[in-house]
Amino acid sequence: MSNDGRPKVRDDVALRAGYHSPQLDVDVRLNANESPLPPPPEFGAAVQLAIADMHWNRYPDRFALDLRAAIGARYGRPGAQVYVANGSNEVFQTLLLTFGGPGRRAAIFEPTYAMHAQIATMTSTAVVNGRRGPDFGLDLDEVARVVDEDDPHVLFLCSPNNPTGRADPPATVERVLELVKGRRTLVVVDEAYGQFSSTSATGLVGDDVPLVVTRTFSKTWSMAAARLGYLLGPAGLVEDLFAMSLPYHVDAVKQAAGRIALEYGAEMDARVATVIEERERMSAALADLPVELWPSESSYILFRPTARGGDETWQALVDRSVLIRNCASWPSLDGCLRVTVGTASENDRFLDALGDVLGPGAP
Ligand SMILES: *Cc1c(COP(=O)(O)O)cnc(C)c1O
Repeated sequence: MSNDGRPKVRDDVALRAGYHSPQLDVDVRLNANESPLPPPPEFGAAVQLAIADMHWNRYPDRFALDLRAAIGARYGRPGAQVYVANGSNEVFQTLLLTFGGPGRRAAIFEPTYAMHAQIATMTSTAVVNGRRGPDFGLDLDEVARVVDEDDPHVLFLCSPNNPTGRADPPATVERVLELVKGRRTLVVVDEAYGQFSSTSATGLVGDDVPLVVTRTFSKTWSMAAARLGYLLGPAGLVEDLFAMSLPYHVDAVKQAAGRIALEYGAEMDARVATVIEERERMSAALADLPVELWPSESSYILFRPTARGGDETWQALVDRSVLIRNCASWPSLDGCLRVTVGTASENDRFLDALGDVLGPGAP
């Protein structure tokens, strides 16, 4: 052990590398599941007006009452059942600070979104791993095994799952709720991509149900820059989360931006519809290439090149100025790549480059 007087990171987190998608300078960026389209121009203008009028010398509404009421209204729910934070990642952090922590366990089902495990570790919550079944569906026997053996305090599902694109119908979430009945397990369904899918667990939320559903403005609302996420859950649990949050954790600009965005619901829904259309076009085109392909209910597509390795294919695409996500070394995803659905022209660039890399004339 060196002792050079430098402050040392906590032992339990020191060895984990951060979760990064490289931000390379390329023409076509399809690696981070961002919306390819900016919000409508009227949105930006309305936010500017709100900012000009802002009481900068005052702290913002600590409980973001207007924003939460507006989000709740979209789901026919009171604002009391809505918690907001700086991205859904901060929602997970507050959840784990409140219901995880030292001596407690969070269950995840691999392959899935890496941040659930990472934030668990950051909060000293032990991670217990289950596996998904064939084609990455949630295996209820496996969920039952993890619940019985590990008795998790928090159980993460992700629907549609990142990076596989598969969604769990509400009936599956109901079965999971039955499996944890009588325990004090909180079920968290991460629906960051919920609006791209035909199923959702939001209808199962209730004040007496140990379930929260998280969503975000980052993907479907074209607002990754704003860092705004939320959950729907029992009102009492939402109060517990506010008690664990730093005072005024959601700033006034973000509260205004979120509220104003919700006035453009039709425009945002149109963006989602466009992405879904492009997703279907891309899936059909990918099916003609030498790749293994998984059906997606989300804004990205997981595939595995069969003609060349994943790492090699990823690099050959970068060489053609197309950046996608390399999942080749993730659990159960040997050789897999994930492409975000972009604009039609970005998707064409990607498909042309991939055809070039994997096609009959490829090296
Ligand atoms: C992108 C993503 C999020 C969103 O995180 P934010 O902090 O809201 O930007 C959450 N869950 C999954 C599965 C994601 O892919």
